[in-house]
Amino acid sequence: MNLLEKDQLYIWHPFTQSGIEDISIPITSGEGAILFDEEGNKYIDAISSWWVNLHGHAHPYIADKINQQLRTLEHVIFAGFTHAPAILLAERLLQHTPKNQVKVFYSDNGSTSIEVGLKMALQYYYNIGDPRTCVVALKNSYHGDTFGAMSVGARDSFNVAFEPLLFNVQFIDAPTKDLAEQSFLQLKMIAKKYKIAAFIYEPLLQGSGGMLMHDIEGLHQLIKFCKEENIICVADEVLTGFGRTGKFFASENMSTAPDIMCLSKGLTGGTMALGVTTCTKEIFDAFVSQDKSKTFYHGHSYTANPLACTAGLASLDLLEKEECWIQIKAIENMHLNFATRLSQYKNVEQVRILGTIIAFDLRTDERSGYFNSISTYLKREFLKKQIILRPLGNTVYILPPYCITQLQLEKVYDTIIEVIKEL
Ligand SMILES: *Cc1c(COP(=O)(O)O)cnc(C)c1O
Repeated sequence: MNLLEKDQLYIWHPFTQSGIEDISIPITSGEGAILFDEEGNKYIDAISSWWVNLHGHAHPYIADKINQQLRTLEHVIFAGFTHAPAILLAERLLQHTPKNQVKVFYSDNGSTSIEVGLKMALQYYYNIGDPRTCVVALKNSYHGDTFGAMSVGARDSFNVAFEPLLFNVQFIDAPTKDLAEQSFLQLKMIAKKYKIAAFIYEPLLQGSGGMLMHDIEGLHQLIKFCKEENIICVADEVLTGFGRTGKFFASENMSTAPDIMCLSKGLTGGTMALGVTTCTKEIFDAFVSQDKSKTFYHGHSYTANPLACTAGLASLDLLEKEECWIQIKAIENMHLNFATRLSQYKNVEQVRILGTIIAFDLRTDERSGYFNSISTYLKREFLKKQIILRPLGNTVYILPPYCITQLQLEKVYDTIIEVIKEL
């Protein structure tokens, strides 16, 4: 049996309908924005390997740091013990988060960072003797695939089998330009009816929801209102963190800071699984007590894994360099030019850019959204031309590693144009 046959025999892939979809491509190595397969084909990774990669694949600097750490300490229980990579990463992260964030809680992926954020917010109110259970979230949102994260995400075909078991959440419209006022009114109405514990949102960019972009002032208005009403704002920066939107965190675009922030994806530069939830002093203090029942009883076996924290520190070293921000800006500028090119095509709608991300919708005869069948066709066409792109239904987007070269990005643009011309 070759490797691929073994894959088909033994592996159950995520978000994959093996009754329909093509077989997987075995990738053997990576360098910069390029991935190589068994036959030596080169692919440009224009989606940063599911939005995680920042500085390129198999980055030698990050690899060396992890290698050293691996030979020193690979893992240790994180209750009753601590270690330098976790401490130093927390210190460094808090230099970039808004000033009101003072504590770092580690977990091991984006979904768990959300579970932690929700549980912190709900237990905060429990601990201070004002129990609240109402959570507000945005329509079309995605916060991960565990039960809590599913509950605050859009109710759609992805989680319909679990619908009766998901906890009750009040959904408001996303504060896009058109819906910002409506969204604000919905929030005010809910606040009249319920005691809201938390408002969870993907700041400025709802990724899986179709690269939906918010109106900055519209989102800010929601956050400001929450602050006035003592509603805990949980910013899911799992995707938007670490320069993705042109700032270190998307929350920096607003003068009011969130109370809790959830981080993962780019946190380790795309090298290792790690999640972080940060919070304010006020939230942390509500858990500090002589009374054991006020403890935050949450943790994962691999919490604050030293290798992952080391990867996080190494990625920050690269991210804090000026060159990296020049690259981020250059990508945004190239996207702006590409947007002009795209606007000439009649089937292209809603071209939008936020930092290193460009997205647009293709007009088709089918309903817009994830299940629009054009995505399967597009994905295959792009792959034939050795570009890795995964449209979300009829929404095509580019979300490249920051190290992508101008030539590589031009190749991605040209390929997209070629493909949409043939439609
Ligand atoms: C990917 C994602 C998550 C979930 O992260 P996982 O590491 O895949 O569990 C949560 N929120 C947002 C905004 C995401 O993009």
